[in-house]
Amino acid sequence: MVSYDELHDPNAEYTMRELSSETMGATGERGGSRDVEITDVQTTMVDGNFPWTLVRVYTDAGVVGTGEAYWGAGVPELIERMKPFVIGENPLDIDRLFEHLVQKMSGEGSVEGVTVTAISGIEIALHDLAGKILGVPAYQLLGGKYRDKVRVYCDCHTANEADPQACADEAERVVEELGYDALKFDLDVPSGLEKDRANRHLRPGEIRHKAEIVEAVTERVKDRADVAFDCHWTFSGGSAKRLAAELEEYDVWWLEDPVPPENLEVQEEVTKSTITPITVGENRYRVTEERRLIQNQAVDIIAPDLPKVGGMRETRKIADVANQYYIPVAMHNVSSPVATMASAHVGAAIPNSLAVEYHSYELGWWEDLVEEDVIEDGYIEIPEQPGLGVTLDMDAVEEHMVDGETLFDEA
Ligand SMILES: [Mg+2]
Repeated sequence: MVSYDELHDPNAEYTMRELSSETMGATGERGGSRDVEITDVQTTMVDGNFPWTLVRVYTDAGVVGTGEAYWGAGVPELIERMKPFVIGENPLDIDRLFEHLVQKMSGEGSVEGVTVTAISGIEIALHDLAGKILGVPAYQLLGGKYRDKVRVYCDCHTANEADPQACADEAERVVEELGYDALKFDLDVPSGLEKDRANRHLRPGEIRHKAEIVEAVTERVKDRADVAFDCHWTFSGGSAKRLAAELEEYDVWWLEDPVPPENLEVQEEVTKSTITPITVGENRYRVTEERRLIQNQAVDIIAPDLPKVGGMRETRKIADVANQYYIPVAMHNVSSPVATMASAHVGAAIPNSLAVEYHSYELGWWEDLVEEDVIEDGYIEIPEQPGLGVTLDMDAVEEHMVDGETLFDEA
């Protein structure tokens, strides 16, 4: 019987554009501490409020880089399949290794989906590694700093998410007790008036209910916090336009993902119909897809998810394209402190950074996963330590690992 691995030989020649160091002639000595080879890649999954896929890249110099991939079925398996393509390579060649992985995985959907997610996890670990090898913080690899600290917005939830006053109370608590001046609430919450949620049409009473939530929250924290509202791709184009128009009188930071993601023309029409700022981008992959939203001006704010979209340099590229259209970047983020800090480094290095999301305030142990402090008073101060500047607390990783996972090897 033929095995799965024989059927899916990771060394099969899918592409003529071979970008290994040998075929590219990038094997020459560099001197100093820069002659380093990757020796292993390992993953382990932590059971956070999402299954965080932590990645470690090991080298023959004893230096280890830590990264994280956005969650998704098959991501650890894909990283395992990519391992032969990076072992023996110099981790300082981040761009070439990224492109090498895209090319080698091109038979397995490299340009979109979980393959890009898996590559993102390795790419972040390479930035941590390169920073440690060169003795510089990761933001330095991205062109240096625009700012010392990056603003964080807190994704908020309540037990009764459809109650405008409960949402306003939670907004007040998060501002006053947790110190954030930027928040997000879900707006795709049931009003009790829905007849049929499959058709995406909002009844007038549903729009009034959503406006009541927005009014209660924004009025309560007015002048103390910016507040965004997320619709999770729920509504028809017509309903989204009516909702966005209804919200124009309130202080809405942005309205996120009002329509489904497939149809760019509908997205563009909704965005251009309203002065309510529209944010989209977390479920697109690579600069190629985000570019379509940007150059059609189908967004007012672009929201790539760094450990999903292609990693740190890909997010920098997206920010650069967005900057050509004067569009700010609000990084979607549901990750552990590792990818959150990767997002913060990019946020420090790009001119048009608006904020980075924090989605785990109800978890209680998010920050325990690393030894350093990460978010303080609603901001992430960019560390000056080499690499990402966060160190996994292996006891915490072990305590929260998904059942059946194995803890990382020592360096
Ligand atoms: Mg969202």
